[in-house]
Amino acid sequence: MSPSPRISRRAALRGAVVVGVGAAVGGATILTTSSASADVPSPDIAGCADWGARAPGGLTQLPNGANKIVIHHTASANQADTSKEAAFQLARDIQGWHMDGNGWADSGQHFTVSRGGYVMEGRHTSLDHLSSGSGMVQGAHAPGANTDGIGIENEGTYTSETPPAALYDSLVTFCAYICQQYGIPSSEIYGHRDFVATACPGEAFYAMLPQLRADVQAVLDGGGNPGAWSVTIDNGDAGFTMGAGWALSSYAADKHGDNYAFASPAAEDGTAVFSAEIPEEGVYSIETWHGALPGYNPSAPFTVHAGDGDHAVTVDQTSNGGQWVGLGQFTLPAGQRDLVSVSRRTDGAGYVLADAIRVTKV
Ligand SMILES: [Zn+2]
Repeated sequence: MSPSPRISRRAALRGAVVVGVGAAVGGATILTTSSASADVPSPDIAGCADWGARAPGGLTQLPNGANKIVIHHTASANQADTSKEAAFQLARDIQGWHMDGNGWADSGQHFTVSRGGYVMEGRHTSLDHLSSGSGMVQGAHAPGANTDGIGIENEGTYTSETPPAALYDSLVTFCAYICQQYGIPSSEIYGHRDFVATACPGEAFYAMLPQLRADVQAVLDGGGNPGAWSVTIDNGDAGFTMGAGWALSSYAADKHGDNYAFASPAAEDGTAVFSAEIPEEGVYSIETWHGALPGYNPSAPFTVHAGDGDHAVTVDQTSNGGQWVGLGQFTLPAGQRDLVSVSRRTDGAGYVLADAIRVTKV
């Protein structure tokens, strides 16, 4: 999918600072960013066919998208089995309860999140709509919100217990993705009980909704999932290498650490590379830090080496010094990898800097 429509939606929603989105060049996606920007990639979502759903009855397709998210708990056991198999079994069980027990056409909710953090489609066609950010299937999860709210069933009973971290972290990322796709503000995340007299999603989980809204907003802002795994690689760390043409300086006042690497623009090779050990496959926010001076490069060429290929991002190093500047969110595989390269090949005048990067799981 082209990133343009998704960024446009987010920009419209948040007044985002993305200043330009270009075409693919040499197979790489070109993003131009001036400050924080996030493009929340889709998390892994198991479709109905993946978990073995039964064929549904008649479903009502709506032309409108969703304008809110409704959080539920399944009120089933807080089971210890956090495997994918257990998650898929839960999805089949819920569909059975809803079709055979309630006489509904399909699972009532649009999506399900297991205690292991697996995200699954509930009602058929929910995933297609979410992927396109267009239209929705009418749900059967909360009277008053079935025609404009995305219902998410979260596995477990959270009247006194809170959801496990695997579920919560996955829900944060998933809700951010939904908000992005449909242009829903993070403030529009509700509990089932906001619409009808019910204990759902449980007293303990309901009390966490303000935190959930804040954590979802942090992901949309490009800062990653607060409290999630994060690592910083400074140019002084072992994960940094620099090629021909690069040297160290401590001149800029708002640098990260003791010094930073710099190079003059040139048509020849010579890159600075930040490497990191990624703990598990997933979506990560990547940011960079530089000490800014008016004479530094306005279009420093960064490349993020993500799981789906290289992404070129241009960073203005004449401003936004002394702070983390978002390069975007990327799906990364587990393991040690060269993550971010800074090249000398730029038309912009002034030194190109490589100072530090920060990688945060979202
Ligand atoms: Zn509910």
